[in-house]
Amino acid sequence: MADIDKKELSIRIAETAREALKRIVARGRPPIPPFYSEEFRQVAQERGYHELLELLNDPKCLGEEDFPQLIAQAGAILLATKDLLNDLGQSTSERVEAMERSLGKMEAAVPFEDLEAILREVETLKSHNQALKEEVKQAQEVIENQTREIEKLRENTRIDYLTALLNRRALDEELRNEIHRAKRYDLDLTVAMFDIDHFKNINDTYGHIIGDEVLKGVARILRENIREVDRLYRYGGEEFLLLMPHTSCRDALKVTQRLRKLVSEHLFSFPDRGFSFRITISAGLAELDRDDTPESLLDRADVALYAAKVQGRDRTCGCLYSDCTNQ
Ligand code: GH3
Ligand code: MG
Ligand code: MG
Repeated sequence: MADIDKKELSIRIAETAREALKRIVARGRPPIPPFYSEEFRQVAQERGYHELLELLNDPKCLGEEDFPQLIAQAGAILLATKDLLNDLGQSTSERVEAMERSLGKMEAAVPFEDLEAILREVETLKSHNQALKEEVKQAQEVIENQTREIEKLRENTRIDYLTALLNRRALDEELRNEIHRAKRYDLDLTVAMFDIDHFKNINDTYGHIIGDEVLKGVARILRENIREVDRLYRYGGEEFLLLMPHTSCRDALKVTQRLRKLVSEHLFSFPDRGFSFRITISAGLAELDRDDTPESLLDRADVALYAAKVQGRDRTCGCLYSDCTNQ
């Protein structure tokens, strides 16, 4: 302490105090005692002010006479502190202003009215979306209806308008699949081709309307007496085809004979017109061979039917039987 006089000491204290305050503020720390004394010690060390470090460790080494000068010096330090605090306040308020400016810009970018407009827009979009959903739903219903209509029309093209049986077109579609399936799984398949005997005579004798009624009647008898798995088609004018999957020729013959019997036993009666009559039908059978195509199978059934006609009608030909049978 003897090295320097009191004046020099107070100048060093002031310098160190100022520098310490500057650093505290520069670091953004508040100038409160713990930070201040820490920084003060640091500055004193850096500058080699050992007497200040001694003072910090033992404040009593200052004489009472030193105090007025130190108090004057402290006043100067407080003034400097005030300036620094002002600076700090300045920079803080600048930051606050900057933030306010940013917020202002953000608000300007999305002002409240715009937010409301956006919300309104979202609401409009939602209602449009709802309306769109409704339209899609209606469109789906229309499409479903149309699909059903088309399906119905398509099915109609497969149905014979007079007898309501499946028609030749349906046969063409289905026979191919059935043959494919039978070959693939090595299943039996037999077809029976029926033809009304002397049908021309009926038309000629009773007229076409009665002829139509007879066709409808035969169709009904056949339809009502076949198994669920069998498929019946109106093949031509007064010809019908019965497709019998999973059926051998022997079994098909039994079916055919039973059906022919039912038709021949039926009395076609027209009380309004004062007449009634019976009819017979002939049948040709063909069982599927491995080499068969739909055409070749139908061809054999047709040949067998022709044989039945030639041999006197009211009988079944084809299959295992080189001869025909009317039993
Ligand atoms: P067969 O015993 O040899 O079979 O003699 P058929 O007279 O039955 O055979 P044909 O082929 O000579 O005559 C068939 C007749 O069937 C001729 C045709 O006018 C008639 N026909 C075909 N389709 C219909 C129809 O939808 N309605 C009516 N009423 N007649 C039909
Ligand atoms: Mg015919
Ligand atoms: Mg005929």
